Amino acid sequence: MSKDDLVVVTGAGGFIGGHLVADLMRAGYRRIRAVDIKPIDEWFQGLPGADNRRLDLRERDACREAARGAREIYNLACDMGGMGFIEAHKAECMLSVLINTHMLMAAREAVAERYFFASSACVYAADKQTSPDVTPLEETDAYPAMPEDGYGWEKLFGERMCRHFREDFGLETRIGRYHNVYGPHGTFEGGREKAPAAICRKVIAAQLAGDDEIEIWGDGEQTRSFTYIDDCIYGTRALMASDMRDPLNIGSDELVTINQLVDIVEEIAGVRLRRRYDLSAPKGVRGRSSDNALIRRTLGWAPSMRLRDGMAKTYAWIHQQMRLPADKRRVYA
Ligand code: NAD
Repeated sequence: MSKDDLVVVTGAGGFIGGHLVADLMRAGYRRIRAVDIKPIDEWFQGLPGADNRRLDLRERDACREAARGAREIYNLACDMGGMGFIEAHKAECMLSVLINTHMLMAAREAVAERYFFASSACVYAADKQTSPDVTPLEETDAYPAMPEDGYGWEKLFGERMCRHFREDFGLETRIGRYHNVYGPHGTFEGGREKAPAAICRKVIAAQLAGDDEIEIWGDGEQTRSFTYIDDCIYGTRALMASDMRDPLNIGSDELVTINQLVDIVEEIAGVRLRRRYDLSAPKGVRGRSSDNALIRRTLGWAPSMRLRDGMAKTYAWIHQQMRLPADKRRVYA
C-alpha cells in the first residue's frame, strides 16, 4: 500500500471506525474515505482531512459510491449495540446483511484488493458458552453453527459470504472476530452501550446524584473478556496486512465476571456501591473468552492491555462527557 492509495472505512462515525480512521491518519494515509449513515456532526470522531460522507450502505448505489477507486475497504458499518439492543432488535441486526452484501459487490466492481469484515464473538455456538468458567473459544468453535440469534447469524453469514467472494471472485477478504471492544469515544448511554461503558456510566451517575446503589444485569457472575480499542485497531490492521484468510479472534483472554468488572470501576472511582441484581434483564451467554493461540501463531501478537488500565482510560473519558454542561453535551446513542 502506498500512502496515496484510497482506503475506505465504513461505520466511520461509530466507535471502532472512528478510531480506525484516526489511526490510519496517524500512519500517514492521505486518502481516507470515511462513511456512515449518521449526520457527520454526530460522529464520535468526525475527523477533518478525511473524505467524510453520509451514506446509507444498505443501498447498493451508496456502496458503489463508497467503494469507487478504493484499494482497501474496512467494513465496520452495522446496526448493532450491546446485549440490551441485540436481544430486542434481531430483525434490524439481520438487515445489516444488506450492508455487507452490497459492500462486497461494490468492492468487487471497484477491483479493490482487500476487504475487511468486522465479525463478532457472537458467531460462537451457544452450547460452548454455558458455564462461567468457559473454555476460551477457538476459531473452529463457530461450527456446528448455533450463534447468537439475529446479530450472530448475520455475522456468521457475512463471514461465509466473504469467504466465497474470495474463493469465487478473487477478492482478498479478512475477517476479524471482535470480542467486547471498549474504550473512549464510544456509546455509553441511550440503549446501545455495552457492559464496560454502561457500568462506568452507572457508577458516575450514582456518584453525581449521591446514590449508593447501582443496578447490574443478571447475577453478575457471567464472565467475559474485554478488548481495549487500541488492541482492536492494531489487530485489525495487522490482520488486514497478513496472509490470514480464515476468521481470526481479536479479543483479550483476561476473563472476569461482571461483578469483578464492577469492582474495577468502583476502585477507579473510589466508591463502594450496593448492587441490585436484575435477573430478568438481558444477560447473553453465561461465559465467553477468546482463545488466542491462532492470532499468536499468525500475527505473532495478541491483545495485551490489562483491563484495569483500559477501564481507567474509558472511565476518565465518560466522566468528562457526563460532567459537561447540558447544552454542551451530546447524547451518544
Ligand atoms: P458502532 O455502532 O459504534 O459503529 C457502527 C457504525 O455503523 C455506526 O456509526 C452506525 O451509524 C453505522 N451504520 C449503521 N448502519 C449503517 C448504514 N446502513 N450505512 C452506513 N453506516 C451505518 O459500533 P462499533 O462498536 O464501532 O462496531 C463496529 C463493527 O464492529 C460493527 O460491525 C460491529 O458489529 C463489530 N463488532 C463490535 C464489537 C464491539 O464490542 N464494539 C464486538 C464485535 C463486533
